[in-house]
Amino acid sequence: AERSSFVVVANRLPVDEVIVDGERQWRPSPGGLVTALHPVLAEQRGTWIGWAGGAGEAPEPFELEGIRIHPVPLSAEELERYYEGQSNATIWPLYHDAVETPVYKRRWREAYRIVNQRFAQAAADVAAEGATVWVQDYQLQLVPAMLREMRPDLRIGFFLHIPFPPIELFMQMPFRAEILRGLLGADLVGFQQRLAAQNFVRLARHLLGLRYEGQSIQVDGRKVKAGAFPISIDTADMERMAADPGVQARAKQIRAELGDPETVILGVDRLDYTKGIELRLKAFRELLADGKLAVPEAVMVQVATPSRERVEHYQTLRVKVEREVGRINGEFGRVGMPAVHYLHQSYSRTELAALYLAADVMMVTPLRDGMNLVAKEYVACRASGGGALVLSEFAGAATELKQAFLCNPHDPDGVKDALLRAVGAEPSELKRRMRVMQRHLRTHDVAEWARTFLNELGVTEREPAPEA
Ligand code: UDP
Repeated sequence: AERSSFVVVANRLPVDEVIVDGERQWRPSPGGLVTALHPVLAEQRGTWIGWAGGAGEAPEPFELEGIRIHPVPLSAEELERYYEGQSNATIWPLYHDAVETPVYKRRWREAYRIVNQRFAQAAADVAAEGATVWVQDYQLQLVPAMLREMRPDLRIGFFLHIPFPPIELFMQMPFRAEILRGLLGADLVGFQQRLAAQNFVRLARHLLGLRYEGQSIQVDGRKVKAGAFPISIDTADMERMAADPGVQARAKQIRAELGDPETVILGVDRLDYTKGIELRLKAFRELLADGKLAVPEAVMVQVATPSRERVEHYQTLRVKVEREVGRINGEFGRVGMPAVHYLHQSYSRTELAALYLAADVMMVTPLRDGMNLVAKEYVACRASGGGALVLSEFAGAATELKQAFLCNPHDPDGVKDALLRAVGAEPSELKRRMRVMQRHLRTHDVAEWARTFLNELGVTEREPAPEA
C-alpha cells in the first residue's frame, strides 16, 4: 500500500460508526484536533491511526474526506486494562495532581505496553521514509520510543493534552522511567503549559541524569525539545455558530424554558472529578442559603456528560454530584422550578452554543485541567460582549484568559466571591473583559496551535494552508 509522509497517532480515530439502512458506515466525528489537522492531512495524503471504538476485530483501513483511516483493534480485556485501567485510573488521576488516588496494577501496565507497541507498529508500517509522525496524548506515551526503535528515519512529535505533574508526584508511578523514556523517543514533546514543560525537563535530569539546556534535553547524542503549545478551538467556527439565527432562537427558548430568570449560571463538563463540579454546586448552595442569591431570579444549569462510566472513581463521583443536586433542589427548589437543572446527557455542538448564549455566567472550576476548551468556547460565543466567565486558576486556559473572574477552586469562599462578582458586574465591564479575551482567541485558534507545533518540529516551514 501507498505510505504517508504525515501520520497522526491518537487513541481514538476521528470517525464515528453509524448504521444507515442496516449498513455500517463511517462519518467524521467533529472535534478540534481533526479540524486543525485536516488541511495538513488532506494535503499530504496523511494517515490517522487509532481505535475505532468497539471491542475485537478492527475494520480494514479506508479513506474518508481525504484522510486515510487506519483502525487499530483493542480486545475487551485490553479496553479494560489499557484504557479504563492504566490510562484512566492510573495516569489520568496522577497527572491531575492525584485529586483522586491513582490505582496501580501490573496487568494494566502490561496491557498498556502491548497496546502502545501495536500503535507504534501500525505507524511504522504506514509511514513513508523520513515521514513525520505526531503522537497524541497520555494513552500513548510509550509510542515515541517504540517507534524510534523501529524507524529511526522518522520525525516524531508528541503532544500531551493533559497536565504533566511535578517530579514528586510523577515519582509515585511504578513504571515512571519507562514512561519517561517513551516520551524521550520524540524529537519534540509539547505540553499545554510552560510549567509542565519545565516539570518534564527537570524530571529527565532527576530520574535519568540527563543534561538539558533551556528546553532542550540531550538523549543518546540526540536533542529532544520540550515546549508549551496551548491548544485552542476553531474560533471562527464557534463565532459563526453563535451568529446563526437558529442557535440564537434556541438560546432565547432555553431562557424562556428556565422561566426567564435574571441570572442563568451554566456549567458544561464531562462528569469527571477533575472538573470541580461538586465544589461549584456547593458554592451555589451556600450563596442561596446565605440569601446572596435566590431562586427563581438565579438558576443553575449543569450539563455533566457521561464519561468513563466503568471506572470506579467516576461511579462514586456521579453519586456525590447527584446527591448534591438533590440536596439543593430539595432545599431551594419549588414545584416546577428547580434551583439546579442537572443534565447527565451529551449535547451537540449547536445545542452547546445555544446554552453558552443563554448563560449570563459560565462556571469553569476544575481542580486541575490541561486546557479546558469549554471556557474558550463560551468566550468565542459571546459576540454581543455580555456574559461572565468564572475560571479556575488551575485550568490551563487561565494562563490566556486573564480577564475572566479567576478563582482558586480549593478556596470555597473565593469561589463564592468570584461568582458573586460575576453576577453583579456592570455590563460595560463584562464587555471590556470579553473583548480582550475574544481578540486573543481570534489569533490563537487551533489551526495556529497545530502550525506552531509542526513548525517547531521542523516539518511545515511554509505558509499556512488556505481556509477550507
Ligand atoms: N462537549 C460536547 N458535548 C457535550 C459536552 C462537551 O460536544 O455534551 C465538547 C465541548 O464543546 C468541548 C469538549 O467537549 O469542545 C470538552 O473539552 P474540554 O477541554 O473542555 O474538556 P475534556 O472533556 O477534554 O476534559
